[in-house]
Amino acid sequence: MSTTSFTLHATDGRARTGVIQTPRGEIRTPAFMPVGTAATVKAMMPDQVRSTGADILLGNTYHLMLRPTAERIARLGGLHSFMNWDRPILTDSGGFQVMSLAELRKLTEDGVTFRSHIDGSKHMLSPERSMEIQKLLGSDIVMAFDECPALPADRDRLDTSMRLSMRWAARSREAFGDRPGHMLFGIQQGGLEPDLRAESAKALTDIGFDGYAVGGLAVGEGQEAMFACLDHAPQNLPVDKPRYLMGVGKPDDIVGAVKRGIDMMDCVLPTRSGRTGQAFTRHGVVNLKNIRHADDPRPLDEDCSCPACRNYSRAYLHHVYRSREMISGMLLSWHNLQYFQDIMDEMRHAIAEGRFEAWEAAFHAGRADGDIPRL
Ligand SMILES: [Zn+2]
Repeated sequence: MSTTSFTLHATDGRARTGVIQTPRGEIRTPAFMPVGTAATVKAMMPDQVRSTGADILLGNTYHLMLRPTAERIARLGGLHSFMNWDRPILTDSGGFQVMSLAELRKLTEDGVTFRSHIDGSKHMLSPERSMEIQKLLGSDIVMAFDECPALPADRDRLDTSMRLSMRWAARSREAFGDRPGHMLFGIQQGGLEPDLRAESAKALTDIGFDGYAVGGLAVGEGQEAMFACLDHAPQNLPVDKPRYLMGVGKPDDIVGAVKRGIDMMDCVLPTRSGRTGQAFTRHGVVNLKNIRHADDPRPLDEDCSCPACRNYSRAYLHHVYRSREMISGMLLSWHNLQYFQDIMDEMRHAIAEGRFEAWEAAFHAGRADGDIPRL
């Protein structure tokens, strides 16, 4: 089995572009990973997701372990074949979602016991169990099991939690073992405290991972605080390994993160917003539910190559949203994923050509129009 690698092709300021090689294909960075929570990117077929330019999807351990269960997916040939996506998949460790979704959680040194939010059944997640589940799923990029405290949190809580996560990172590394062709990422914690972030990075690099996530952000701290943290947190991580910012974000969050040296991101926003009539465009956010679109024959975004923009008017998109037709969520999810991937592609080229700053200025200037009809 072939191994994995990360090659950095160019840097521009702190922004980086490169390629992660895996046996299931390459991941061009900076990369945006659409979220396939329950073994599907909602309202999208896998070949459609791929056509937007996605090299990798994210799957959620917490959801899949509860339903249909990791053991069942393994019996059926693994997550790639189960969901008909043959390219790389990253799975989270389940830790974050246990904390945000599960009921009656009990946290100990060993791990977390909890009750399912679906049927109340009792389950356990630990570093060892999380590694086992992600192996059963067949994940290409496995995340270490960690604890992610909600912000704001006081320093004592962040300190205690970070140290527990670092002990769990060592146990995750041990349980993962040697699996050629698969990568294990560690997760930096420490909230918004620069010294805790640095200490966490040191603990992780001493253990040694194939990539490093900046965890514990996008949990309610706001963009300004997140960017302030990203001004220092990624700098403590190894230059020659991919850096992943978990759960981010809006287009301007993504651009700001790439500017600060992040290589990978994931977010439910393109598909979730698509199902609620909200479209991201190079001119800002467009709410298709708004009556102002009812007679508008123009495309959603005349520069976009997706089917929603090529084949339909704003009036149609407004109509199917108001009529609660399924094609509304399908078309707007497709458009939003296309827009996010278009931004990533533009950033990769801008970084490679040393013009990221100019690209970023144009990105922000174009969005100033917002949702104002340009007639
Ligand atoms: Zn479009």
